[in-house]
Amino acid sequence: MMLEASATTVPKDAPSATAKPASRPKVLIIGGGFAGLHAAQGLAKLPVDVTVVDRGNRHTFQPLLYQVALAVLSPADIAQPIRSILSGSPNIEVLMDEAVAFDLDRRRALLRGGAEMAYDYLILATGATHSYFGQHDWAQWAPGLKTIEDAIEIRRRVLLAFELAEREMVETGSHPELNFVIIGGGPTGVELAGAIRDISKLYMREDFRHIDPSKARVIILEGAPRILSNYPEDLSRKAVEQLTSLGAEVRINQRVTDVQPGYVMIGDTRLNAVVTLWAAGVAASPLGRMLGVPVDKHGAVVVDSYLNPPGHPEIFVCGDLAHVEEGGRQVPGVAQGAMQMGDYAARMIRQEVAGKPRSPFHYFDKGDMATIGREKAVANVVWPFKAHLSGFPAWAAWLLVHIYFLVGFRNRVGVLLQWMWTYLTSRRGARLITGSPFLPGWGHQPGTHPQGVRASLDPSSPQPEAHSVPAAGGAVPANAPAEAPAP
Ligand SMILES: Cc1cc2nc3c(=O)[nH]c(=O)nc-3n(C[C@H](O)[C@H](O)[C@H](O)COP(=O)(O)OP(=O)(O)OC[C@H]3O[C@@H](n4cnc5c(N)ncnc54)[C@H](O)[C@@H]3O)c2cc1C
Repeated sequence: MMLEASATTVPKDAPSATAKPASRPKVLIIGGGFAGLHAAQGLAKLPVDVTVVDRGNRHTFQPLLYQVALAVLSPADIAQPIRSILSGSPNIEVLMDEAVAFDLDRRRALLRGGAEMAYDYLILATGATHSYFGQHDWAQWAPGLKTIEDAIEIRRRVLLAFELAEREMVETGSHPELNFVIIGGGPTGVELAGAIRDISKLYMREDFRHIDPSKARVIILEGAPRILSNYPEDLSRKAVEQLTSLGAEVRINQRVTDVQPGYVMIGDTRLNAVVTLWAAGVAASPLGRMLGVPVDKHGAVVVDSYLNPPGHPEIFVCGDLAHVEEGGRQVPGVAQGAMQMGDYAARMIRQEVAGKPRSPFHYFDKGDMATIGREKAVANVVWPFKAHLSGFPAWAAWLLVHIYFLVGFRNRVGVLLQWMWTYLTSRRGARLITGSPFLPGWGHQPGTHPQGVRASLDPSSPQPEAHSVPAAGGAVPANAPAEAPAP
């Protein structure tokens, strides 16, 4: 059966992958994230030929992306070239390309560059992406956090908001209220909220002369009755307490109905936002649907307890792309699950090559943790002991675990030193604005002066109404009205 990526088909005359001796099985791994990398490392030095295909040249440690987004770490601290990680394994080659179609009958994958890759085993591990629940135009006003590029764009917007406010104060004596709105109260939303409060309250307090960064508001909008809904209830409560103590606002049962430059709508209520961030929805990589096998409502491939889609024992689907259930519960889309699935796929191939039968996948849940800010976190520890931790102990555990799992000795040392520097000096490392100097929606804020920083408006965004709310003698007070019924 020929499967297609939209209108793309595998052309008969497409160049073939490098010819290899027929006796050695070919393993094609698509995706060099947690699952793909662990699979590749598990196959190193085995009598198989492995090709790892990733559309980027790097493996990204996603759990620390928010620290790049909020200027603690630099991109190179949390990402490494896949090629250099695997350079010590002669049986593994790495291709920077994107898989776009499959022919499962012929055991072929087509890459965007045109190469047709033959395989005996396919390990599919292309992860997940943002889901805007069908509202694709919201993405430009509310970026999500999944890649290094996303993190740099979020850093740009957050830092730019403070810069524009300072400039506008100089020019006009007022500036719009610095509302940072985060849609979604899962771990990523909570991490972003805590980090923006930290940066505004602790790390930038001496940097500006005309605005008071600590007056920035951070508001989490969560559609469900509680944040961190996958955590035990007591830890959700602890997370709210810690966020509140940091000065962030948590609003539950808030369904965002529209996202526009400069504001979001919750039903009839308008909430102004200098920066809106999206942490509300994820969907599986679109590659899953291209296989032509059953997928769940998020597009994740439904696999059996051997991580195989029905009728395809030669295909292992791993990580966030896999919908695998154990004891009636879905294995969560987290790094430890992805690593374990990658390890498992490699182990099963190793066993099969050695003539041994396969055994089912078992997820070893060690627990979950989410950091909230400096010395603030929650942890649902399942192994090596059971405990619900919050505050400093959870934060210390979070630091240790993330240092331990970072790929590469240089990154571990670099990140550890950077964290120590930040902790001891309260100064952040990578507060650089790169890219466009325009902030979408800036001119839509009450308080933006028509002749002032209006000049900084993104020319592609509509012009604002000419209204200005001067703040007497300094920055806009933190209790200035921010919400208004929709016009
Ligand atoms: C901001 C953030 C914070 C997180 N924090 C935590 C945490 O604290 N703890 C935790 O356990 N988990 C956390 N997670 C979840 C964890 O990172 C994921 O579960 C994990 O990365 C999934 O691994 P994966 O290998 O399935 O996919 P990924 O790591 O996403 O890797 C997928 C790879 O596939 C590549 N790719 C995609 N499509 C194609 C294609 N068509 N062709 C070729 N290559 C392709 C991508 O470039 C990428 O390298 C977090 C995730 C995010 C986004």
